[in-house]
Parts: sequence; C-alpha cells; structure tokens
Amino acid sequence: MPTLAERDHAVLWHPYTQMQTAPLPVPIVRGEGSWLIAEDGTRYLDGISSWWVNLHGHAHPHIARRVSEQLNTLEHVLFAGFTHPTAVELAEQLLELLPRNQARVFYSDNGSTAVEVALKMVLQFFHNQGQPERRTFLCFRDSYHGDTFGAMAVSSRGAFTQPFWPLLFDVEFIDVPTVGREAEVLAQLDAALARPEVAGFIFEPLVLGTAGMVMYAPEILSEMLRRCHQHGVLCIADEVMTGFGRTGPLFASELLTEQPDMMCFSKGLTGGTLAMGLTTCAAPIYAAFLSDDKMKALFHGHSYTANPIACAAALASLELTRADECTAQRQRIAAAHAAFRQEIDGEPGIRQVRQQGTILAVEYDPGEGTSYFSRLRDTFYQLAIDSHVVLRPLGNVVYLLPPYCTTNEELELLYAVLRRMRELVLNHVPATNLPEYLHD
Ligand SMILES: *Cc1c(COP(=O)(O)O)cnc(C)c1O
Repeated sequence: MPTLAERDHAVLWHPYTQMQTAPLPVPIVRGEGSWLIAEDGTRYLDGISSWWVNLHGHAHPHIARRVSEQLNTLEHVLFAGFTHPTAVELAEQLLELLPRNQARVFYSDNGSTAVEVALKMVLQFFHNQGQPERRTFLCFRDSYHGDTFGAMAVSSRGAFTQPFWPLLFDVEFIDVPTVGREAEVLAQLDAALARPEVAGFIFEPLVLGTAGMVMYAPEILSEMLRRCHQHGVLCIADEVMTGFGRTGPLFASELLTEQPDMMCFSKGLTGGTLAMGLTTCAAPIYAAFLSDDKMKALFHGHSYTANPIACAAALASLELTRADECTAQRQRIAAAHAAFRQEIDGEPGIRQVRQQGTILAVEYDPGEGTSYFSRLRDTFYQLAIDSHVVLRPLGNVVYLLPPYCTTNEELELLYAVLRRMRELVLNHVPATNLPEYLHD
C-alpha cells in the first residue's frame, strides 16, 4: 500500500516546490491548537501559523460551529444584485475597527486578488476622472504582494518572477526606510513623486514579510504617506500579513498618523479557515465610481465573492480576535519574544534580531564566501522538522509567527530550536551531515 505522501507525489504539484528534488510532503491529518498531527501520530508545533493564516489555533471549535451553522443555512449566493447577512455584518464590524477614513468594503478571494482590486481601483479612479496618464505605482524594492500578474508587477523583481519580467508593467521602486536609511529613502520618494504619472503607492506596513520580515518604523511611513498625499497619490496598505493583531495592534496602520486610502486583507481574515480577500477604500475613491454612466462602475468580481461560509468564518474569528483574552495572548507572546530577543541579540552567529508584536525574526550570520549560505535554509528547515516544529526559513532569516493560543511552554520549544540553529551556524556543520536529498 502506498503511503499518503507517495500517493500525493504521484498526482500533485505543490506551490513553491521543485518537485524533482523536494522531500516527500509531511502528511497532516488533524490540527489541534498550535499543533499539527501527522498520519503516524507525530505532533508538529506550528511556529508560523500555517503560512501566516491561523490566528486562534487549528480546528477551533467556535469557528467550526459558526461555519457549520452557515453551511446549513446558506452556502452561497451570487453577489451582484444579491446580498446576505454575513457579508453585511462583517463589513459593518470591520469598518468600525479600521482607520476612520475607510468607508467601503469590496470582497474577493485571497491576498493577491485583494491587491489586484486595489490596483484596479487606483487606475480606474484616475481614468474615471479623465486622467488616464496617471498610472504608475510606487513600491518597495523588496516587497511581496502576491502571485497574480498585477501583484507580481508591484512586487520585487526577484528570481521567482523572472520568467514573467517582460510582461510585468513598469513600476517605480524605492528602498525600504529601515533604521538609518530614512533620509535617503525620502529623497528617492521625492524624486519619484516629481513625476506626474505617479498614481499610487503600495506597501506592506511596518513589516515586509516575504522579504525576510524586514521592519521599519511607523513614523517614517506616516511621513511617506503625507508626501504622497500632497501629490494626490493614493496609498494602499497591504495588511494581508500584518492584519488582525500580528504586529500588536489590530492593524499595523493603527500606528500611523497619516492614514492609507485603501487597505488589503486576507490570511488571518478568516482565522485561517477559508480563503477570502477584502479591499477597503476611503469615501472619495468610492465616489469616483458613482455616475449615470454604467461604464464608470468597477467591473471586477469572482464567482465566490463574499461567500457566506467564508464571511461566517471571518465573523467568528473576529469575535475571538476582539476578545480581551486574545489581546492578552498577543501581549504575552510579544513579551516572551522580547525576552528571548534580549537573550540572543548581539551573540556570535546572530546578525540581527527583529520584532514587531507577535512576529520575531532572527537573521543568522553564516559567514562569508562559502556554498554554506545557500544550504543553510534547507539545513534549518530540516532541523525544525526533526525537532517536530514547523518553520519556513527565508534564507538565513528564521522567523516565528505563532498562533495567538501558543503557550509560553510551546514558545520555549520554538526558542530552543532557534538556539540550536545558532549553534549550527557557529559550528559550521559540514554539508555531509545533511540528509541525502539536500545535496544538489
Ligand atoms: C501572502 C501575501 C499576499 C498574497 O496573498 P495570497 O492569499 O497568498 O494570494 C499579498 N500580500 C502580502 C503582504 C502577503 O503576505
């Protein structure tokens, strides 16, 4: 009898995976709190909320109950010409919590589509007002906004998107204003804003996730937004990863003194249960689409737009997120991270430790000039799996982004793995110690 992993290998094609050399996938059959339970009973501690989506633990009974009730009430209805209670309730609740200027909610399917919608809103905003020449986006050189074409275009021109570069529309890249680089980046921004065709600025607020949890301060971002607004440039906060408490406050944008015009959400939106995306915008943007002319409408939508089950999951998750208990959990995780950070920051083998709320990133210093560096990611990954912990290193950066229900004891298990990774870097573990499949 072939195992589940072998059956998978015969028929499936996994994302971000070189199928020829990747090890067989880990077969997970059940989830419980911060744990994923494999076919053979092995329990893996989920240190990254299953690709940054889970907030309150796996198979959470409250979300399960609400989803089940919704399934038995209304599973789906088209969202053009029709509406339903969970879509309205969710939009009402979110607008209450979001920065005050956010006035409208547009549903879609995932983070990439939430970004596509925001980009299209910006372009058509200017088109509808007779300024189609305003069509250039500003974005951070190391940003990640998704894998669809528009989202790829406003993301880093990294190796992953190279086959598509010729088809990606031109954007203006600026650097991330990390500590010490603020003045330089403001100069880059001013130069870009001098061009009249600039329409929008899209950014991951405070933390660039895929770039390696690169962090920068709310003060400099607020100043950048202020300068964009002086030039009539619309600002899009991509809170797909940072939303719903990850960075401390409910939304990273809460720490800004200048508010974005549009916001994108997904990932934690449903607590990690169902795929859903959502774009919000300020009143003047919505107003630019109102007209007796039907062609000024936003002609964008997906078959599953505002799916009632996904909306019910989001409402259930939001209820848990808004509870005092969740705020306390996030504060507890942030405090534990800060203590661990104190412990290892500045130690040999560590280049930098970064933290924003429940996100902790350790950048290891693997030394220079060896093929060791490129192998480090796979070595770290395997060490985590062998330690029954799920982590997904980004090169030499290993980050923790745990579900909020993760206990202090469970956090200790994660920190222990991060400490072992430091020992591994210090001892320059020879490549021959790697499992067979990691040799190229
Ligand atoms: C993951 C992510 C996206 C893309 O979301 P998908 O649901 O994977 O399409 C967009 N922006 C940011 C900041 C993300 O982290």
